[in-house]
Amino acid sequence: MKKIIIAIDGHSSCGKSTMAKALAQRVGYIYVDTGAMYRAVTLFALQHGLFDKQGRPLEAKLEALMPQVSVSFKLNPETNLPQTYLNGQCVESEIRGMEVSSHVSPIAALPFVRQAMTRQQQLMGRQKGIVMDGRDIGTVVFPEAELKIFVTASAQVRAQRRYDELKAKGQEASFDEILKNVKERDYIDSHREVAPLRQAPDALLLDNSNLTIEEQNQWLIQQFEAHTQDGPEN
Ligand code: C5P
Repeated sequence: MKKIIIAIDGHSSCGKSTMAKALAQRVGYIYVDTGAMYRAVTLFALQHGLFDKQGRPLEAKLEALMPQVSVSFKLNPETNLPQTYLNGQCVESEIRGMEVSSHVSPIAALPFVRQAMTRQQQLMGRQKGIVMDGRDIGTVVFPEAELKIFVTASAQVRAQRRYDELKAKGQEASFDEILKNVKERDYIDSHREVAPLRQAPDALLLDNSNLTIEEQNQWLIQQFEAHTQDGPEN
């Protein structure tokens, strides 16, 4: 069966990574969470005091330090899922907290950050056989991806899912703060100048507000099969 690139973009906390991970495991593809890469750069900026009092990034200082930022993934042998590393340290848990979530979108809007991450993502997909989720995968990173999905759900539903996820991990969480953060990130991600969040014209739209995880996985596998079977359409 031919190998393809699957680009899954969409709004914050709408379950993109859950569906991307499940598909990658099922079909034996590599899974790349590009949001984790922007989160790791944000953690680096927080660790180095690279935000002003208003929470704006100190751009020139971060740009000068970018060559020192190395983001990579390693498979956790127990779960067989990739974990995010920043300069050799596993940061999987730190990058999911509210502090990183509330600083990540301004960092992801910086052109030099996007350029560095995009280049790395394109290298990861050279051999195809990859499921990548993010905001600009089908529009900028892999405009030629064979299967593109744009996922959305109501902001309330998304905030509730994120709240449940953080609680399940034993992390502090406030529903109102999460809802505000989800809306703010959507706004910044959709309105930035470089690689704004938008649905690629050839992406399939999935609103999963009322779908179970099982139903959305089922839908995705059907799309995958339709795009990998040899036939008149391919
Ligand atoms: O996917 P996740 O919510 O973890 O992404 C965190 C943030 O990283 C997003 O809110 C967005 O600002 C940024 N991002 C991006 N481009 C991507 C993936 C994520 O700008 N491809």
